[in-house]
Amino acid sequence: MTLKQVLTILYRGPLESCNYDCSYCPFAKKKNTREELAFDRACLLKFENWISQQDREISLLFTPWGEALIRKYYQECLVRLSWLPNVKKVCIQTNLSCSLAWIARANPKTLALWTTFHPTETTVDKFIGQCQQLVENKIHFSVGIVGKKENFSFIQTLKDQLPPTIYFWVNAYKRQANYYSATEQDWLQKIDPLFSFNNTIYETRGKGCEAGESSLSIDGEGNVTRCHFIKDYLGNIYQQSLDSMLGVRSCTNDCCRCYIGYINLKELDLNRIYSNRILERIPLDYH
Ligand code: SF4
Ligand code: SF4
Repeated sequence: MTLKQVLTILYRGPLESCNYDCSYCPFAKKKNTREELAFDRACLLKFENWISQQDREISLLFTPWGEALIRKYYQECLVRLSWLPNVKKVCIQTNLSCSLAWIARANPKTLALWTTFHPTETTVDKFIGQCQQLVENKIHFSVGIVGKKENFSFIQTLKDQLPPTIYFWVNAYKRQANYYSATEQDWLQKIDPLFSFNNTIYETRGKGCEAGESSLSIDGEGNVTRCHFIKDYLGNIYQQSLDSMLGVRSCTNDCCRCYIGYINLKELDLNRIYSNRILERIPLDYH
C-alpha cells in the first residue's frame, strides 16, 4: 500500500448536547433524544469504518457541537481509531468532565486532547485532577480557557497550578472590539506566549489556505467542505474519492478568526511553531 500525503480531517457529527451550560457557548445547547444519539453513533461508526479503509495517513480532530467524551461510543471509537495503522493523530475538543477509565486502553502515541476549562461549570481542583490522570497515562493534551475578564483570576490560578510542561492557551474574546487594554494584553501574552496569534482577526479573502488542499471538514453524513467556515459543498466521502475533492484553494471569506481555521493559512506557516502537535494545540517548546 502506497501512502499519500497526510490528510487532516475535522469531523463534526450531528451531536449537539453538552453536560455544561457555559454562558458564552456559541453552540446550540439542547438535549439530544435517544434517537438523535443513536443516529450520531451510527454516523460515527460509519466514519470510523471509512477511515480504516483509506490508503493514506490521516490526522483527525473531532470538533463536536457539545461534549462528546461523556458518551461511551465516542470513547470506544477514539480508542479503536488510535490503534489504526493509517491514523497519525486522533484528537478531540473536550471539557474533560468525563470519566477517564477508558483512556489507558488508547494508544498514547496517537490520542491527544484539546481540553478547555469552563469556570462556571467545574472547579480548578477537579479539573487539575483530571489533567493529572492524563499525565499518568502519558496522553498529550493542551489546556485552555476563554479569555473573558471575569475569568482572569482563573487564568492565573490555572497557570500557577498546571505543570509547567503543559501548554496553557487563552482564547481571545473577540466579539467586542478593543476588549483588552494594553496592560491586559501584555499580561495575557506572558501567560500564553502565542496569545497574539489568537487575538487577531485575519483578513483572508484571496489568501492561500491549506483548507481544501491538505485539510477537510466532514459532517456526520459524510458531506465535505474545505473548513468549518466556508460551506461550499465539495462532495461526499461515501460517494466520491478524496482525490476528486482535494485541490489548491484560496480563501473566499473576508476573515478567519478561530484557531482551527487560521492554522491552515499558508502565510502564517504555523507548522513551524506546532509541528505534528498542531491539532491538539501544543507548540514545539512543550513537545
Ligand atoms: S463545555 Fe463547551 S460545548 Fe459545553 S456548554 Fe461549555 S462551551 Fe458549550
Ligand atoms: S482562511 Fe479560514 S475561513 Fe478561509 S479557507 Fe482557510 S480556514 Fe477557511
